[in-house]
Amino acid sequence: MEIILEDISHSYGPTEVLRDINFTVPNGQIVCIVGPSGCGKSTLLRFAGGLEQPQKGQILQSGHTPEGCLNPLTYIFQDFALLPWRSVYGNISLVLEHHNISGQRAAAIIADMLARTKLTDFAHALPKQLSGGMKQRVAIARALAVNPAVLLMDEPLSALDSQTRELLMADFIDLWQQRPFTAIYVTHNLEEAVRLGHQVVVLSRRPGKIRDVIHIKKPLT
Ligand code: ADP
Ligand code: ADP
Repeated sequence: MEIILEDISHSYGPTEVLRDINFTVPNGQIVCIVGPSGCGKSTLLRFAGGLEQPQKGQILQSGHTPEGCLNPLTYIFQDFALLPWRSVYGNISLVLEHHNISGQRAAAIIADMLARTKLTDFAHALPKQLSGGMKQRVAIARALAVNPAVLLMDEPLSALDSQTRELLMADFIDLWQQRPFTAIYVTHNLEEAVRLGHQVVVLSRRPGKIRDVIHIKKPLT
């Protein structure tokens, strides 16, 4: 799915948050939004996903949803947002149950996602038994299990140490290469954005205005 953001401007009360934002998220690519804290990245992510409406401008979504898409939109947060009383397996199966997928079909999807995120041996572990990096891999497995049309990520690596961030970036690139997906990735870390994005949208301090859109030739490595 392609997402086109046209002339987006928004204020919360007297606080102007975004001004004249224009960019396109091409199908099957990762677009990173980078900028200082408070410049409106999370707000822009919510607009792109259609979770909230901007005061001005429009968001156009076009194209087909991917094969086997159960949910057009999934989210990955900085704090993982796993259910603590459910195992790794249970956290993934819950979203499938929500879409009425159970039994062998669910088991096959979960086994595939666990293998792709290198969590097969931890299927029965509880979140509290896992490191931060592993917890975020569970969240990624859960988010991709439904084959979303777009994956929205808000500072997914910011709670992790630098070594773990490195490993997760490599894993993320691996996952994308195995089966490309469309994603919008918010970070305040330019290095992360350049490494992961096909396109990097650089916002200025609030009000977030586009300073630059950098197109990066990939294959991602
Ligand atoms: P970040 O860590 O991304 O900078 P913030 O601390 O700015 O996040 O905001 C976290 C969440 O709280 C945001 O998703 C936003 O919607 C909400 N939020 C932030 N500021 C306000 C506010 N002044 N009033 C209501 N909600 C807010
Ligand atoms: P970033 O993700 O770049 O840190 P945010 O989009 O979270 O920035 O927030 C940008 C500005 O908008 C901040 O000043 C924040 O307090 C404000 N803000 C965000 N969400 C809300 C909200 N729901 N209500 C009021 N103010 C908000």
